[in-house]
Amino acid sequence: MSKKLSEYERKRDRKKTPEPFGSRARNKDPIFVVQRHDARRLHYDFRLERDGVLASWAVPKGVPLEPGEQHLAVHVEDHPLEYGSFEGEIPKGNYGAGTVEIWDHGTYELLEEKKDGGLTVRLHGKRLDGTWALVPAHLSGDEKNWLILRKREDGTVSRGQAPRTYRPMLATLTEKLPKGEGWEFEPKWDGYRAVGYVHGGEAKLLSRNGNDLTERFAVVAKELVQALRTPDAVVDGEVVALDSAGRSSFSAMQRGSTQLAYEVFDLLEADGEPVIGLPLSERRARLEKLLARNPVVQLSGSFVDGDALFEAAQEQGLEGVVAKRVSSRYVEGGRARDWLKIKTHGRQEFVICGYTKGQGRRSGRFGGRGGAGGDVAGAGAALAAIHHPAADEFLLLRHAFGADHPYRELRHQLRHPADRSRHHLQRGRPRRDGRPDRLRPAR
Ligand code: MN
Repeated sequence: MSKKLSEYERKRDRKKTPEPFGSRARNKDPIFVVQRHDARRLHYDFRLERDGVLASWAVPKGVPLEPGEQHLAVHVEDHPLEYGSFEGEIPKGNYGAGTVEIWDHGTYELLEEKKDGGLTVRLHGKRLDGTWALVPAHLSGDEKNWLILRKREDGTVSRGQAPRTYRPMLATLTEKLPKGEGWEFEPKWDGYRAVGYVHGGEAKLLSRNGNDLTERFAVVAKELVQALRTPDAVVDGEVVALDSAGRSSFSAMQRGSTQLAYEVFDLLEADGEPVIGLPLSERRARLEKLLARNPVVQLSGSFVDGDALFEAAQEQGLEGVVAKRVSSRYVEGGRARDWLKIKTHGRQEFVICGYTKGQGRRSGRFGGRGGAGGDVAGAGAALAAIHHPAADEFLLLRHAFGADHPYRELRHQLRHPADRSRHHLQRGRPRRDGRPDRLRPAR
């Protein structure tokens, strides 16, 4: 056994961890590996084959991708060569407990080795292809704290990309689901559209208009870093709030629900490279591979049968369906015909079950037309409900109201009308000027 591995072995119990031990000599091209290690603190382990073992650094922000960019790389104990193909679960209670996944691997050329131990290497991997330097940095006084930096390639012009932002692609409202081949269908979420930028282990969320939503949806930002199997990516999705029944609900969002989900439906950039020019089918396939199971960040479903999804959306009180052409590129900021949205509420039968008087300039006006294709025009306010067959209850039709309406703050739930005496609306936060008034049964 190599002496170099004594610290590695001291830290681990070979009876309790599936990690490999032992070391064997090779005479092929030296290898490198980068492992995503979801331990107590998520990091990426960068390893280079050196003298029969893997010299190792823990890189909290992942390997930098932009030329000139540098990240902290904490020099850790050498690992056995076999660790280069290790993936799996290190059980609780063991050193480094958590999940190890191979993020990239390949061979490398040693371009330079400095007296102080600094290395310059050219990596030939799937994701990492280029030149990086490992620099012992004594800035903090801790000799373990090195830097890893991406070097500019000789003879090539630097891509010189500053981290860029993306304007979300928009859907065109239509009446009917498109027919024919080449479409996929997704639920239309009713929350906040947000593009998620993950870079160096930190996430930022920007709204459609470029407003920073990171603080407001801090839990989403935090979980997005965990959910992505890579330290650098840009995704598109919708932050939704869940009501007590676990349904997506805009009114729950308005009430400040802290139970949030991020429904991710597109990938715009991966490992520093924009992918918006790829067809949707390919972007989705890559997105699926990049998203790990997470309680908050979820892959928004994609379906082949648009009619079935539309029916389900109606039943579940979802806003509608978005149809997307599978061959389409991502058109920034564009309301393209490749994405179509079809809303459910315009086609619902609903009952008027109460109303309030309009306020101010709206006073004296009350609008309400029920039935197919109907809409509750928002003067005062009508409370409209649709039957929810799955839950066997009536859901208030939140889309019947203007965005600023106080009834958005009510819990949108009614008991089943079979027991009319028990009809009630659970009240949410009362509006500023008092309490919601004049709630009455419509019939
Ligand atoms: Mn590690």
